[in-house]
Amino acid sequence: MTAASPERAQLHAFLAKHGKFLLTTHVNPDGDAIGSEVAFARWLRGMGKQVRILNDSATPHAYAWLTDEDPVERYSEPLCEECFEWADALVVLDTSNKQRIGKLANHLDRHAIALAIVDHHVTHDGFGAVNVIEPARPSACSLVYELIRESGAAIDRLSADALYVGLSTDTGNFRYSNTDTSAHLMAAELLKLGVDTQLTNLRISATAPAGRLRFFGEVLAALELYEGGKLVVIEASPEQFSRHGLEGADTDGLVDMPRVIAGVEVVMLVSEVVPTKVKISLRSAGRVAIDQIVAQLGGGGHQHAAGAQFRGSREDAKARLLPELAKLLATLDGERTGAKA
Ligand code: 5GP
Ligand code: MN
Repeated sequence: MTAASPERAQLHAFLAKHGKFLLTTHVNPDGDAIGSEVAFARWLRGMGKQVRILNDSATPHAYAWLTDEDPVERYSEPLCEECFEWADALVVLDTSNKQRIGKLANHLDRHAIALAIVDHHVTHDGFGAVNVIEPARPSACSLVYELIRESGAAIDRLSADALYVGLSTDTGNFRYSNTDTSAHLMAAELLKLGVDTQLTNLRISATAPAGRLRFFGEVLAALELYEGGKLVVIEASPEQFSRHGLEGADTDGLVDMPRVIAGVEVVMLVSEVVPTKVKISLRSAGRVAIDQIVAQLGGGGHQHAAGAQFRGSREDAKARLLPELAKLLATLDGERTGAKA
């Protein structure tokens, strides 16, 4: 086996050494989180290892079909204790920020469990004994794919589906700036392994209840433009969530929609599911880096897609971030389609 870096070599050794693995990922898991867990679990099982997957938050309906053979358990205090007692090692996927694994983080402090991280985020604590953290990779699934390939193991059909889901969702269906040559090469390999892109896209995108679209419609109808149209701000209130019977995960995809407006550089979604529990999501069209903006609130992510949690009112959250965004956007000159790439 030829590992591409010393950290990857350490990870392969880590996997060889242990027998019982607990896998987890970030709160409110997305396609990349679930996809990387499922593919990683199947890789480990193929090596004869025992595996359990335990997450802080529920699996979104759109990705549940990936977990039929590799069930994902949902956190409860006693279940988590049982898993930590049972496992020799914990592998954290698609985050390297300890707080982002949610309630499992408390248990980490109580158990001296061997810990490895496989992630592609810029903002990280690197809290594992082994840290494979490569921000240049488009998705955590890209890393898992490369690790499996390095090991020489086969990728079965369900793993290929899981890896494709992570890659395609984290790259916005191969549209975002993290879509590089490796993303397309990996997609091509996964297609050769049998992934049906049309079916997969249907399974993950045609899952919304009608209420979600009505909610999107309301939120989008009230969008506000700032900074000469370079910044779009959208907001969702607790009243809107409860009236449509939705939860936080239902905003998935919403922040991306205003990106179709001509001249937009940044979109901010300020969503308050429960009063005073505010979630900020930021997206950049590619010319400005927005991860530093949310870092001020203890958040993080990538240069062009980042988020943070904020305790307070939506107005306070906006008052904190709007001046920073204005400063950032003032540094831009020319039209998006003109001067700068
Ligand atoms: P989203 O806006 O879709 O929730 O997240 C966009 C990106 O920012 C994702 O890569 C996600 O992992 C990251 N992100 C979202 N919320 C937080 C947060 O509270 N803390 C950190 N460190 N990253 C976040
Ligand atoms: Mn990811």
